[in-house]
Amino acid sequence: MSVKKMLIDGEWVLSSSQETRDIINPADGSVIATVAEGTSEDAKKAIQAAKKAFYEGGWGETSAYDRASLLRSFADELEANVDEIAKLETLNTGKALIESEYDVYDSANILRYYAGIVTQPSGQTYTLNDPAVQGITVREPIGVCGLIVAWNFPISLAIWKIAPALAAGNTIVFKPSEITPLSAVKMFELMEKAGYPKGVINLVMGPGATVGNELAESHDVDKVAFTGGIVTGRKIMQAASGNVKGITLELGGKSPNIIFADADFDTAVDYGLYGMFYNQGEVCSAGSRILVEDTIYDKYLEALVEGAMKIKIGNGLDEGVKMGPVISKDHMNKVLNYIKIGKEEGATVACGGYRIMDSGYEKGFFIAPTIFTDTKPDMRIVQEEIFGPVVVLQKFHGEEEAVKLANDTTYGLAAGIFTSDNGKALRVIKKVRAGITWVNTYGPVYPEAPWGGYKQSGIGRELGTYGLDDFTEVKQININTNVGPTQWFHE
Ligand code: NAD
Repeated sequence: MSVKKMLIDGEWVLSSSQETRDIINPADGSVIATVAEGTSEDAKKAIQAAKKAFYEGGWGETSAYDRASLLRSFADELEANVDEIAKLETLNTGKALIESEYDVYDSANILRYYAGIVTQPSGQTYTLNDPAVQGITVREPIGVCGLIVAWNFPISLAIWKIAPALAAGNTIVFKPSEITPLSAVKMFELMEKAGYPKGVINLVMGPGATVGNELAESHDVDKVAFTGGIVTGRKIMQAASGNVKGITLELGGKSPNIIFADADFDTAVDYGLYGMFYNQGEVCSAGSRILVEDTIYDKYLEALVEGAMKIKIGNGLDEGVKMGPVISKDHMNKVLNYIKIGKEEGATVACGGYRIMDSGYEKGFFIAPTIFTDTKPDMRIVQEEIFGPVVVLQKFHGEEEAVKLANDTTYGLAAGIFTSDNGKALRVIKKVRAGITWVNTYGPVYPEAPWGGYKQSGIGRELGTYGLDDFTEVKQININTNVGPTQWFHE
């Protein structure tokens, strides 16, 4: 098996240490590829290449039209290669093939969205206290951007950062999760084919503690955009403080999905399942706490359990499969440990709660969809992000208690509400401290809509115009139309 290489300064290279890493298929534990395991040295080289491309290569001064055209070419390449990339993604992450395909098409849309808005008017003109001076603002690229992402949506998370960063005129060093780099290697091959100049795009694989830390710490990186866990997010904030670089943090969640008794029942059950078990529950915005109004609690629980037990679980490449394995053996053990904690805390397992070891599944990391009832707000399974197919139900009485429970964690990423009363929906959602909210739906991501969290779920926004703004600096330019000395010192 040939070793998959990294892209640094326009060259496909092995690690400076010659080290490699085997990449595992979570559906059966087999080795599917071997990749270069980058080092801090490799990250340093990539940062220098990106710096040179920005300051000396002229990329920072390219026209928005040229950058938009490259984004569109890259989007075309992605779609033309959807079968290969989606298959790689499913082999590497275990997710259902249909989800991987969706991620590719969605990513192509996001590239085209940024290609569109980057050529639109931006900035402000403003009047000043001095009528002779005209003020305007312009947005400029920040410089070298370090982009670091998690393993749950390797294609999408990459594009959410790469598209606005390049649209704005920055150069990039991208680090995928060390366990899911395969789709990134293919995407960088396609970006090269689309015509990105040497040094503008760099791919360095490898561990967070070395490669990731170098991107966060380096004084030659001007901004770091990160998606991952809260503990890593805190480390990145600290490392980034050395040169006061800009940061965007997309962190975890424990998001409430609030079901009122007057909701359309079947829709609320359907989105309870979809909001939680899509991508094996390995979704930052998963509706992992379902808050149900007391008068329909028993009926809702029964329907949710029935739906969860019907989910077709298996190898993501197999026809009709809707839920695959979790990402790794370590992660499976972490999720199983949370199930054990939940039982010890006194919650009741209404369904699931175990690793699937049936014939054909035993080498993979499959966990049955799990629903906990009889929960209390202070339980760890209610407060902490499990990041697997485990949902907790909470019972509430009326709007006030729904809001209180919804806000009762340190997270504030997403929230959903199901009701047939629009006034109630808006009243409740405005009181919920979360950055992404849905009414009578749960989970969709829109290229136009800003994505990000309140509280400890993060800093900054991705997607939409906010996502582009977060990869730019704002400059004020004040033009004096009445040229002459101030005579401040010499009247
Ligand atoms: P993680 O924090 O362990 O790793 C994320 C990335 O950070 C990886 O590339 C890793 O190598 C790197 N990293 C690790 N230590 C580092 C360090 N010291 N310095 C720099 N980089 C470092 O997270 P994970 O387990 O890969 O992903 C799961 C988490 O991601 C969950 O908490 C989930 O909610 C979150 N997530 C958030 C969003 C969002 O949009 N808010 C989206 C997807 C995932």
